[in-house]
Amino acid sequence: MKLKDIYSQEFINKLNNLNVGANLNSDDEVNGVIDIETILKDLKFNFIKDNRLSGSGRIEGKSIYIDNSEILARQRFSMAHELGHAMQNNRHANRNDDSTDYNNEERKDEVFANTFAAQFLMPKKLVMSTINNIIRNNNMDRSHLNDLQVQQIIKESAIELKVSSGGMKYRMKNLEIFVPVKNGK
Ligand SMILES: [Zn+2]
Repeated sequence: MKLKDIYSQEFINKLNNLNVGANLNSDDEVNGVIDIETILKDLKFNFIKDNRLSGSGRIEGKSIYIDNSEILARQRFSMAHELGHAMQNNRHANRNDDSTDYNNEERKDEVFANTFAAQFLMPKKLVMSTINNIIRNNNMDRSHLNDLQVQQIIKESAIELKVSSGGMKYRMKNLEIFVPVKNGK
């Protein structure tokens, strides 16, 4: 699967418009997981790992700061989150855990950045193909998945896509994957 199979060309063009010299190639192979760090570099962001940040991440102009004392899945989410701010033309934002620190405008930006990050790291096509592989490899019956199997699929796909299990669960809910079929329908 290539980047252009996962994201629209229009979206990739928008990404390439963020910084002068950005050259993200839509023909790049994805290899089963979104390589957010390489993507940020291709988009000509300066990528700075710093364990003395007051939040999980920050964007200042072309520089994206990530707290590298946090677990990898969280760092990756922070990277995509800051990219989300850049897409909104917001080049000065902090990612902070305490939502009371934000005013209304900032809160809206935070919701956007979080939604963007989830969609960016867990694009539908990639999620579907990951899930299909797990179902196939474990000889599961896709039309009769029990709760335990669904839990297993969430856990394994989160590991594959290098995101948190909670994030994957939420994303699957949004994509309406594993919505139980009601009896008689
Ligand atoms: Zn933010």
